[in-house]
Amino acid sequence: MRALRLTAWGKPPTPIEVEQPVPHGPEVLVRVDAAGLCHSDLHVVDAAQGALPYRLPFTLGHEVAGWAAALGPDAKGVAVGERVVLYGPWGCGACDRCTAGRDNYCDRRDTLAWHGVGLGRDGGMAEYVLVPSARHLVPIGDLPADQAAPLTDAGLTSYHAVAGLRPALQEGTTTAVIGIGGLGHLAVQILRATTATRVLAVDTREDALALADRSGADFGTLVRPDTGRVLKARTGGAGVDAVLDFVGTAQTLELATGILRAGGEVAVVGSGGGHLTVSKPGVLPPGFRLSLPFWGTRPELAEVVALARSGAIHVETERFPLSAAPEAIDRLRRGRMRGRAVLVPD
Ligand code: NAD
Ligand code: ZN
Ligand code: ZN
Repeated sequence: MRALRLTAWGKPPTPIEVEQPVPHGPEVLVRVDAAGLCHSDLHVVDAAQGALPYRLPFTLGHEVAGWAAALGPDAKGVAVGERVVLYGPWGCGACDRCTAGRDNYCDRRDTLAWHGVGLGRDGGMAEYVLVPSARHLVPIGDLPADQAAPLTDAGLTSYHAVAGLRPALQEGTTTAVIGIGGLGHLAVQILRATTATRVLAVDTREDALALADRSGADFGTLVRPDTGRVLKARTGGAGVDAVLDFVGTAQTLELATGILRAGGEVAVVGSGGGHLTVSKPGVLPPGFRLSLPFWGTRPELAEVVALARSGAIHVETERFPLSAAPEAIDRLRRGRMRGRAVLVPD
């Protein structure tokens, strides 16, 4: 079968021919219908040798939708032909967190040579993907595969980040979302669907702000020297109650903390490598809270799928055949992608 493999650090991945896997024990072989391309894939492709615990080679693709094509003799809880998405952050499978479907915060994460499917383990940018256990599968019914695949990370990570803020996002509050790409445009929709907060969107691209508008943002603005002032003015001067930062550079962290109201929270999702200095006394607002959400839980993935099936969230996608993955990666790198790129086996 064809698979997009990372074979050497610093070398662009290319589709190559590999052996089609066979499920043993509790494993499930999933035929891939669609795999989302995440900005994290660029971070992985660009990583220096030794920066990540992954062993090479492996197949990329951590946002996967498809159907169960073959079951190992001990696989339970899924039927051949069932349409599914993959819960991606595979942990050790044995600790309290994994047992509760919270592999994203597995207690043994530091000892594993992977972060999940397509991140150190063979992923879904291929015709088939081998899943260690049916506990990593969530049924999707008749949801189209290109809608379903991005829910497993762009949707789930945004949903998990919003879940952490939700108690603070009552009527009358304001939330800023920085970076309206694959994750950000779904975060705007999830905020609209599950909270009463007003949503202010920030990006460096006009077309991303248009996407924010279509996603239900109340206001959008480009990053400029006076963006902080513009956003604060939108809150009557007090500042925003929460910020979701899907970029995470020094510039966006400075913007995020600069527009925050006392007692507000910043959730940093983007892996932009920015630093934030905490000091007391200092410039951070009193009551400042910070979170670093990572991916999400299996129960949350089922909730995101239910939200999408109800029509409350819609992923804006650009489709590419798997053979065109290098072009899709290049487009994403140049900031030319609208919403989420989805690769379909050809
Ligand atoms: P994306 O490329 O689809 O979207 C990023 C958006 O940010 C783009 O619209 C871009 O124009 C905008 N942007 C770039 N620089 C900006 C700036 N200085 N100010 C405002 N906007 C700016 O990326 P994505 O797939 O949505 O991923 C976003 C980030 O989240 C990446 O760093 C990715 O690695 C990270 N991520 C984290 C998790 C997690 O669990 N924490 C999960 C998935 C992705
Ligand atoms: Zn991702
Ligand atoms: Zn674990």
